[in-house]
Amino acid sequence: KLVVPDYPAIGYIRGDGVGEDIFPQAQKVFDAAVLKIYGQKKKIEWQKLLAGGEAFETCGEYLPKETLAHINENLIAIKGPLMTPVGESFRSINVTLRQKMDLYACVRPVEYFKGIKSPVKAPEKVDMTIFRENTEDIYAGIEFASETNESHNLLKFLEKELNVHSIRFPKTSALGIKPVSPEGSKRLVNAAFEYALKMNKKRVTFVHKGNIMKFTEGGFRNWAYEVAREYPTFTKLEYDEIKNERGSLQAENEKKAALKSGKIYVDDVIADNFLQQIILNPENFEVIATLNLNGDYISDALAAQVGGIGIAPGANINYKSGHAIFEATHGTAPDIAGKNIANPSSLILSGVMMFEYLGWQEVAELIKIALSFSFRNGNLTADLGGKLSTSKFSDVLIDFIKTY
Ligand code: ATP
Ligand code: MG
Repeated sequence: KLVVPDYPAIGYIRGDGVGEDIFPQAQKVFDAAVLKIYGQKKKIEWQKLLAGGEAFETCGEYLPKETLAHINENLIAIKGPLMTPVGESFRSINVTLRQKMDLYACVRPVEYFKGIKSPVKAPEKVDMTIFRENTEDIYAGIEFASETNESHNLLKFLEKELNVHSIRFPKTSALGIKPVSPEGSKRLVNAAFEYALKMNKKRVTFVHKGNIMKFTEGGFRNWAYEVAREYPTFTKLEYDEIKNERGSLQAENEKKAALKSGKIYVDDVIADNFLQQIILNPENFEVIATLNLNGDYISDALAAQVGGIGIAPGANINYKSGHAIFEATHGTAPDIAGKNIANPSSLILSGVMMFEYLGWQEVAELIKIALSFSFRNGNLTADLGGKLSTSKFSDVLIDFIKTY
């Protein structure tokens, strides 16, 4: 539905720390790939946007209005990592950006590339995309510190007004509120199904702790299954119903028939079990839809299986308005900043996601082929046990792209 001009104006935020090392290199790779596929017919008009430390030095603000206005108008931006200012009124520039644009879906594809060391036996079986809800859950930030008027009042309110008699924790407790809404859950799950359809995925799994948190996490599960009904799916609920009424054999047969006819299989897994399952049987999962905190843990756990922080890409998307920010998922890595040794792959793969979003599929594929080629031939940066600098690694990609 997104209308993309041939010369789209794409805002970029270079980022702090290693952002300075990786961004210019990634940009060269992007431009080389676009040139290779489209010649002069299509081209990205890069527009520099300020945010983070660089913005503060230039204009005394961490997130200038101009930056927000540009993304608001042009919909798409790509960014490197941003430092978190200490003692400022907002907790994180990254989070503020997501909130301002209401980027409710955090999308993290996790895929293994041959040639990269992995701590698991069969990393090639890992090929999943996580849809993490980005705006609710305990990240919505309503907390009350221990032994303050607020927490005492809230406890009193719970006991008196709400008749909660089973408060079995100390009155000195800090308290937190976990909001999970049907609207928030459903739009996230919708995005996961749209993606599954578009990418021809065969399985969508909801991950939650509904066994413990019946209304929040359990609510998410129930709303998610409601969304599943709007799509060509065969769900575990249907399976269980058939099994109860007509036995396992019949349930198994109907599942097989449904999958054969192209339906997506939908189930749900409790989060702790899921973290075990992705190590034991990662091949069982394709698209994951989950809440904010679960998604946070799962994203890192999965990234570690395929090479870690240096190669894990991400995007924050509002599929309704079209706004999307593609980003390296790692931090500013001050320990290696300015040394030209950081791995630019996380940012480059975020670029791949951006090209897919723009509908420039061939560009996305070319960059991915170049990365596969590079890793397979042992062209690796230091974090992956190799010797290549940031710029040398990018040169290998660009040479490959030019001669492809
Ligand atoms: P921030 O406060 O911005 O999150 P951080 O100190 O937490 O920064 P991270 O960027 O989260 O640092 O990185 C954690 C570790 O991973 C560091 O040792 C860092 O050097 C390494 N690392 C992060 N990004 C990369 C990268 N692109 N290439 C190589 N190593 C990286
Ligand atoms: Mg960090």
